[in-house]
Amino acid sequence: MKLTILGSGTSHGIPVLGCDCPVCHSEDILDKRMRASLYIEGDSGERALIDTGPEFRLQAIRAGIKRLDGIFLTHAHADHVHGLDDVRPLSRETPLPVYGNRETIEEMRERFSYIFKETQQGGGKPRIIPRVVSKPVALGGLTFTPIPVKHGMLDILGWKIEEKTADTGTAAAKKTSGVEAAPGAAVYLTDTSEIPAASREIIGKPAVLIIGALRTRPAETHFSFEQALNAAVEIGAAEVYLTHICHDYLHGEIVEYCQNFMEERGLKAANGMGGGVTMTPAYDCLEITL
Ligand SMILES: [Zn+2]
Ligand SMILES: [Zn+2]
Ligand SMILES: [Zn+2]
Repeated sequence: MKLTILGSGTSHGIPVLGCDCPVCHSEDILDKRMRASLYIEGDSGERALIDTGPEFRLQAIRAGIKRLDGIFLTHAHADHVHGLDDVRPLSRETPLPVYGNRETIEEMRERFSYIFKETQQGGGKPRIIPRVVSKPVALGGLTFTPIPVKHGMLDILGWKIEEKTADTGTAAAKKTSGVEAAPGAAVYLTDTSEIPAASREIIGKPAVLIIGALRTRPAETHFSFEQALNAAVEIGAAEVYLTHICHDYLHGEIVEYCQNFMEERGLKAANGMGGGVTMTPAYDCLEITL
């Protein structure tokens, strides 16, 4: 499968409106961070999305998205759902299922109440089917497993994405030396401030971890860089990408931060020959193939 980071920025997006800081004024394309979202393409043609932020339409055009089979929501904060109306052209022929936990789906229904009103016809509305889920969802050969995490006081979801391979069944089912090895699995955890113990088990040891990391200073509702990287070390993913990043640091400075973290912890960098770890900030349009 292929993952595309559609956006790697925190709630206000980078550049922040009206901000004069060096990051918001950076000319480097890697410092332009749209609202956080992930596009997933399965090997059998499945197309899915995690979150529909305010820039969804622009991100979808940029990434060449022409079709979607499902949308998976982490939670209903504005920076994660307010682009939902823009899935209209993609839901014209087949209504799109939108998955989330109860709280998220209820809040989404409230925010987009017009979608569910019989009275408004024409003028164009997205055709979506809200689905409250607590168990894995199959989408063709892909499986999306909800991962309950804490976002401050809120109970939100991360998602584990696995791809069935012809001879092994679900990749995560493979066991190596008694440790769950999930070579085909990716985990997306944004807006996370705590991962409950039971969710650690669901996460297992994915090949790829995309994890929210706001900044170096602590925040009540988000992991800091250090907290996210510590969680990544515990999880043991081979490739770690930080996302939902604010405007405190340039991309290059966060790369350095990650390198220093790895050095301090004695973590060997991946060199393409197998083994080692990658820890780096994500950026918009980054593609990860696994
Ligand atoms: Zn957010
Ligand atoms: Zn700024
Ligand atoms: Zn949030």
